[in-house]
Amino acid sequence: MNVRIQVMRARLRAPFDSAWGSVTERELVLLELEDDDGNRGLGEAAPLAGYEGVGIDDSRLGLERCQELFARSDGADRGDLLARCGEQTVVPHALAAIDEALWDLAGRRAGEPVWRMLGAAQPQPIDVNWTIASTDRAGAAREAGSARSAGYRCVKVKVGIGDDAGRLAAVRAAAGPAMAIRLDANGAWSVGEAVAALRAFEPLGIELCEEPVHGLEAAAELSALTRIPVAIDETSQLDGALEQRVCRAVCLKVGRSGGISATIADARRARDAGYQVYLASALDGPVGIAAALHVAAAIRPDRFCGLATLGLFAGADNPLPPRDGVLVPPTSPGLGAGLGAWYS
Ligand SMILES: [Mg+2]
Repeated sequence: MNVRIQVMRARLRAPFDSAWGSVTERELVLLELEDDDGNRGLGEAAPLAGYEGVGIDDSRLGLERCQELFARSDGADRGDLLARCGEQTVVPHALAAIDEALWDLAGRRAGEPVWRMLGAAQPQPIDVNWTIASTDRAGAAREAGSARSAGYRCVKVKVGIGDDAGRLAAVRAAAGPAMAIRLDANGAWSVGEAVAALRAFEPLGIELCEEPVHGLEAAAELSALTRIPVAIDETSQLDGALEQRVCRAVCLKVGRSGGISATIADARRARDAGYQVYLASALDGPVGIAAALHVAAAIRPDRFCGLATLGLFAGADNPLPPRDGVLVPPTSPGLGAGLGAWYS
């Protein structure tokens, strides 16, 4: 196969702030595999350096180390090739890009969407949340109102970044009583702080709090002390996190899990342990979002998914626009048509 590895940049409409830092521009590595018949497969490595401890260079180097293997393969030996790439790099985001590109290629060759190859009978619509990017009350309220008008049934609000109570009250007022409000503290709180904060926010009606605290013990301790469902996100990558349930739910990400196949395996392990499972992006590009939608079609997430994030980017047209708070997995062959144009 021919291989192309490209680093590209995408600007966000506005800085995206959370308890771990602020993002204004996103670097992504795009992997393109092309077989002798001209079939192409796209994959994306989208690590968030400040968030996950994996940088863009780690991902690019990981992919470059696999170039020889791609050149010698025709891509048909998907599982085997991925395993051999795993001997060259352990960077999950690089392996995710490879897995996505191989699934995309396999789907295009077969003329089938990836969700069908994963065993899903239909491209079931996936409930997604709106992610509120504004950190001030007025801006957050405006976004909550927009989410409501656009038909969303869940908004996600970053907390642990100052004026949480004021912002949340403004969001509830603008979103109306039916809107599910999800919090994400990105591990900013101690157990004591989380108990106090969640007790204060409980009357507002909170659907779930993602990563209120960091660590398995802390998540288990907090879960026993609050009525608000707790989910682990960053903590889910710690050893043993998916083997024994410490809270209600777990948020999985295709990049962090190491690809489509690995995410499905992680979802199975998590559910076997008793967790509810949902998916989110880490400000992924459309290839990463599409990959997650195919996974979602296969695993049927238990809660709203954080996949409606392409709208946070400036400029480029969104090839996967949410409608009425849902995203539908692409029905064209592979990961979907028209995803590559977004990157150019
Ligand atoms: Mg999160």
